[in-house]
Amino acid sequence: MKRNCVIIGGGPAGYTAAIYAQRAGLQPVLFEGMLPGGQLTTTTHVANYPGFADGIDANALMQAMRAQAENLGAELRGGIVTGVEAQGNDYKVTLDGGETIVTKTVVIATGASAKYLGLPSEEKYKGLGVSACATCDGFFYRRKTVAVVGGGDTACEEATYLASLCKKVYMIVRRNVLRASEAMQKRVFETENIEVLWECSTKEILGDEYGVTGARLQRKDGEVFDVQLDGFFLGIGHHPNSDLFHALVEVDENGYIRTAADCTRTTAKGIFAAGDVQDTRYRQAITAAASGAQAAMDVKAYLDSEYEK
Ligand code: NDP
Repeated sequence: MKRNCVIIGGGPAGYTAAIYAQRAGLQPVLFEGMLPGGQLTTTTHVANYPGFADGIDANALMQAMRAQAENLGAELRGGIVTGVEAQGNDYKVTLDGGETIVTKTVVIATGASAKYLGLPSEEKYKGLGVSACATCDGFFYRRKTVAVVGGGDTACEEATYLASLCKKVYMIVRRNVLRASEAMQKRVFETENIEVLWECSTKEILGDEYGVTGARLQRKDGEVFDVQLDGFFLGIGHHPNSDLFHALVEVDENGYIRTAADCTRTTAKGIFAAGDVQDTRYRQAITAAASGAQAAMDVKAYLDSEYEK
């Protein structure tokens, strides 16, 4: 049976696309991939998703989105998509077990993954002081001391955001310059409680049974020293999960899928992209959910114009 719509990705964008597509009568099938719930499940408490006066547990939020899609009748499946290829006006989607599905449209909502340094101690304290999202977790460090690693726009934005909440913010920068835009650098340098630790790399994140207590750094000249911290934030970039689709749709120089300025349409007819896989700027659960809704509406309009008339 040919499907109307296959949605790839089980994060806020994917589940919301499924909710809207199902309500539009499209009977979508959604493949949740390796991390059902998406990036949000790597954090704990979500305080900035509207509708929850006291915030909500991140996993509970994702389970609720998932349940909503399922209760409406959308088909949610655990398989991993290993390939998508054009087949006439349609697309053939291949799953890890070898099964193939033919569909008129595809919504790519595979998200992005924050880059981590790859230290065992970083893994150990993930969610216990190590975070890759200042907007999500900064609130827990009010009047405390934190560090942000990285020197690009993301790190500078995280550092200035955290500086508005925290007592002190260190930026751990591996070179003697920032990669960030001039404007962003200026903001960092003009913020009194940000101190840049130049030419430093992180050897280890220090902690106890309650979480992060500091970081062991090494300067380029070889000096090793410790800083006391309550939180350690990664700001070394994100990797959009778009590798599977590079032959199909146009991506920018960082791998983000290019979409039309006014909608979620990609450069391939019938393929739409939603959420962080196409968002270089906002990367919030709420913005991902919103673009998932847009993708489903774009799919519906596309099907109406291409197939139904
Ligand atoms: P970038 O790739 O621009 O910067 C990554 C930073 O992390 C660099 O300073 C890099 O150092 C450092 N880094 C990378 N790997 C390591 C490592 N292993 N150890 C220590 N440091 C490391 O990523 P961003 O996420 O900052 O930005 C991505 C894109 O998104 C850019 O085009 C940016 O302009 C854009 N963006 C725009 C924003 C806005 O306009 N508001 C906000 C956020 C991002 P080095 O410089 O030495 O390579």
